[in-house]
Amino acid sequence: MKYGKKAYMPLKILHDTEKIGKMREGVLFAPTTIRIDLNTVCNHDCEFCLYQSSGDGLKGVGLNTEMPTGVQIDSQRLIELISEFASCGVKSLVFLGGGEPTIHPDLESIIEATNRTALDYGLITNGSRLDRMIPYIASQGFKWFRVSLDAATEDTWNKVHRPSGTRYGFNFIIDNLRNLRNQRSDFLRGLSFIVGENNHHEVYQFIRMAKELGVDNVRIGMEYGPGFERRANKFEQQVVADIARGKTDFEDDTFAVFDKFENRLVQVGINKKNYTQCRFQNLSTNLGADLSFYTCCFGKYHPRHRIGSVRDISFQELWFVQRLAFLSRFELEKCPPCWYDSNNELLEYLTDPNPLHVNFVD
Ligand code: SF4
Repeated sequence: MKYGKKAYMPLKILHDTEKIGKMREGVLFAPTTIRIDLNTVCNHDCEFCLYQSSGDGLKGVGLNTEMPTGVQIDSQRLIELISEFASCGVKSLVFLGGGEPTIHPDLESIIEATNRTALDYGLITNGSRLDRMIPYIASQGFKWFRVSLDAATEDTWNKVHRPSGTRYGFNFIIDNLRNLRNQRSDFLRGLSFIVGENNHHEVYQFIRMAKELGVDNVRIGMEYGPGFERRANKFEQQVVADIARGKTDFEDDTFAVFDKFENRLVQVGINKKNYTQCRFQNLSTNLGADLSFYTCCFGKYHPRHRIGSVRDISFQELWFVQRLAFLSRFELEKCPPCWYDSNNELLEYLTDPNPLHVNFVD
């Protein structure tokens, strides 16, 4: 089996028993993953985007972000930070955006700097530069990349992604994805689909198309934002059935369907935090294009979730010293509905100093 179904396993966090031990003892440690917004500039205006300038984004769930639009991350500082991350014990970076990361003018220097470390890295893109990106990705050390496609037809893609300019379209992305077959294949290649009102009818078709294109996986997620659970009621059952049918018809040892729709819908719909602390933010954190760290994707660019800036201080100083004050004032009860609840429930259980009846296993 070249690529199994394990890339999105939520139980991956169990592998790092040392960090779980440190969490139990209240000792700080470097995050495993840093998700980095290379910019807040985008050539699409996706209707589900939390950070789009034309929509409500996170406002309806009580998070009015203060995202500065039109910003490219300071690449000189980021390049220094990448080596700081590596020396502190960070394991991986994900390049993504409050915009489209491949638009950053210094992307190649940033990747070169990452190649000088032992950090693993991946990329999430809207596919608008795939003609250049596929050969580039294949020539570098990317562990994976994912194209946010969200449609199986050009009409739906236009409705959902609302691209600016006419240089390329849905078929340009599909044609370039076909070229993947000619590239080296020791990195994981995925497509994603965020289900919303305008594309829910294409989930099965999308899974079939991805299989035909020869990618390694698809990830089906849900739109997030005010009232989505209510709107999703209309198509939830159909989407769940289409994902199940897609799995049955197309999954095999070389192709996986990751269902991030059903669980997330349930978690966000319930919005009950059965844990006392967000421990997950210690393992995975977010660097904004403004060079500030934020707890998670939900909290990006929101003052309540802003850990602090690394513009003028080292990552080490921020993460291991200044963050203590942030953690002591952090109010979990003000968090929005979030899909890391099950990770946090698991971490709360694992860090319990006196877990009940562990000597009975049945
Ligand atoms: S509980 Fe959820 S929303 Fe709150 S900081 Fe943690 S991951 Fe973010």
